Amino acid sequence: MSGIVAFIGLGHMGGPMAANLIKAGHRVRGHDLDAKALKNATGAGVEPAGSAEEAVRDAEVVITMLPAGRHVLGLYGEILGLARPGTLFIDCSTIDVADARTAHERAAAAGMRALDAPVSGGVVGAEAATLTFMAGGGEEEFAEARPLLEAMGKKAVHCGGSGAGQAAKICNNMILGISMIAVSEAFVLGESLGLSHQALYDVASTASGQCWALSVNCPVPGPVPTSPADHDYRPGFAASLMAKDLGLAANAARAGGVHAQLGLRAAELYAAFAEGGGAGKDFSGIVRTIRERSGE
Ligand code: NAD
Repeated sequence: MSGIVAFIGLGHMGGPMAANLIKAGHRVRGHDLDAKALKNATGAGVEPAGSAEEAVRDAEVVITMLPAGRHVLGLYGEILGLARPGTLFIDCSTIDVADARTAHERAAAAGMRALDAPVSGGVVGAEAATLTFMAGGGEEEFAEARPLLEAMGKKAVHCGGSGAGQAAKICNNMILGISMIAVSEAFVLGESLGLSHQALYDVASTASGQCWALSVNCPVPGPVPTSPADHDYRPGFAASLMAKDLGLAANAARAGGVHAQLGLRAAELYAAFAEGGGAGKDFSGIVRTIRERSGE
């Protein structure tokens, strides 16, 4: 790809992702409503644009990394009519599956092409270009996007048609959110039974209870020294983001009539944890709430 990549939304994730595109030799014109975010990106070689309209003019690809669906749809409303016909719009934000499908429809109606491509891997992955992308859209669009995605990540999976990337993202995070609660409840139950954290870890991490929430992001300090629990629950993956993603999963489950009882309950528990002061902590900090509430 030799043309200009417009990158809109240069925050915690978008900033380093745009910087990695530049490192890979792409020309990136960026925009963010936040002057500081734009300035930081400019320092990494992004050509600053004073408006989204200016960023997308003559661009071959438009990448967005915005907080939520309303930001993406609002922005698309402003810029879809201004880009060159056939421009590929890649939205990497985590948004509602229904909003992602609406974004695809609006792009097509304006003569543009679209891909939803949310990510897993967090700010560390964005900085190290080790993100995993989950993409939804046409084969051709995915093939065209792949070199850009691979410049920002280590893996890109084509999950299906429009919205399939967002669907994969919220399903994966529903597994993660529920399994972290399961592991946390097991540690607190073990405490009440006089079982040491290390003993439970040594058994479960090599037995059928093994999962990422236990063996990589262990919610209690000690067994996995690199886990956020050993660093006062500094994220990692912030509880506010887990609450957001599980909220999206819960909405989708309700809309589809899916009997996802644990997913819905996990969404409520992370929302309460985030609202109760845990928003900026790693989501594994939910173990503290479970411990505090035990015996109530
Ligand atoms: P962020 O708030 O740091 O960045 C979003 C940026 O978008 C901000 O700088 C904001 O000023 C800008 N913005 C909002 N509306 C805009 C508009 N109309 N025009 C231009 N700029 C606009 O958020 P983030 O942490 O970078 O997350 C971005 C997305 O990635 C979210 O959807 C989030 O759920 C997802 N995500 C985040 C992480 C993470 O660990 N931070 C991990 C995976 C996925």
